[in-house]
Amino acid sequence: MSAQTQAGRVKEITATSNPIVKEIKGLALKKNRDAEGLFIAEGLQLATFALENGWRARSLIYAKRMAGHEHLMQVAAKARAAGTDILEVSEKVLGVIARRDNPQMVIGVFEQQWHDPLTIAKSAGKPGNVIVALDRVRDPGNLGTIIRTADAVGASAVLLVGECTDPYSMEAVRATMGSVFNVRLARIDAIDFDEFKAAFPGRIAGTHLGGSVDYRSIAYGSDPWCLLMGNEQQGLPSILAEACDSLVHIPMAGRAESLNLAIATGVMLFEMRRYHLTMGETASDGGKQV
Ligand code: SAM
Repeated sequence: MSAQTQAGRVKEITATSNPIVKEIKGLALKKNRDAEGLFIAEGLQLATFALENGWRARSLIYAKRMAGHEHLMQVAAKARAAGTDILEVSEKVLGVIARRDNPQMVIGVFEQQWHDPLTIAKSAGKPGNVIVALDRVRDPGNLGTIIRTADAVGASAVLLVGECTDPYSMEAVRATMGSVFNVRLARIDAIDFDEFKAAFPGRIAGTHLGGSVDYRSIAYGSDPWCLLMGNEQQGLPSILAEACDSLVHIPMAGRAESLNLAIATGVMLFEMRRYHLTMGETASDGGKQV
């Protein structure tokens, strides 16, 4: 793919067998995303937001019939000047890349961003700040939904602990509804979680079906917090549960054994951030936490 310093190429592609199309389509596989450090995001609005917020695009792909779209042409011109390849393609090609009928008319191929977990831990010093940590999250829909919810409450980062599903898979990115471009992501092995804990100036709340603390009984506003959520099938392993300052439980009625992971995360986050979320503002306390 093109060097970032050179102006991007403009290419017209109609054949689904084109090698560039094959390469982009290959990003559906994790091994290719990992090797290239790239991912696919769909939609003009997302591409615009991402490019305006410092995300680097390798390719911007759009349907030929969008060629007269003024805003798209402006976005494409800027992206091209920054080294992005511009691909004007048939709708069939877009469908192959997006792996669906009726694909979005604009698709971007972006460079993944991963943050250092210890830097995230150290920079979370403000009371009320929340970092979400997820133990071996398996389901891409859950992960995308959690990233979207973390964005909605102004959480400062999402930390993936152990072997997690890829936040940059197409399914996870779709479920984030664009929040993947707005939430810092980091990853760490479970065995290194103690290092994160040592660097983190706040407290850690683990959610656990056997937790002894009602999640509503903690005053979350006085410290920075890390919210640690367990794996969908197995819950938190003891190595992580023991690292927590509190193990909290969300009381339930009825016969359900547990809540869905993304729902439980949402319930927790809105409680933890309740005094930072005010009517009439979309980003209280000055927007994104650092
Ligand atoms: N069988 C798993 C277990 O024994 O923990 C259920 C896991 S649950 C589907 C996924 C995660 O959501 C849990 O590990 C926990 O972090 C959180 N969770 C779900 N319901 C909860 C509740 N009522 N109280 C506290 N945490 C809950």
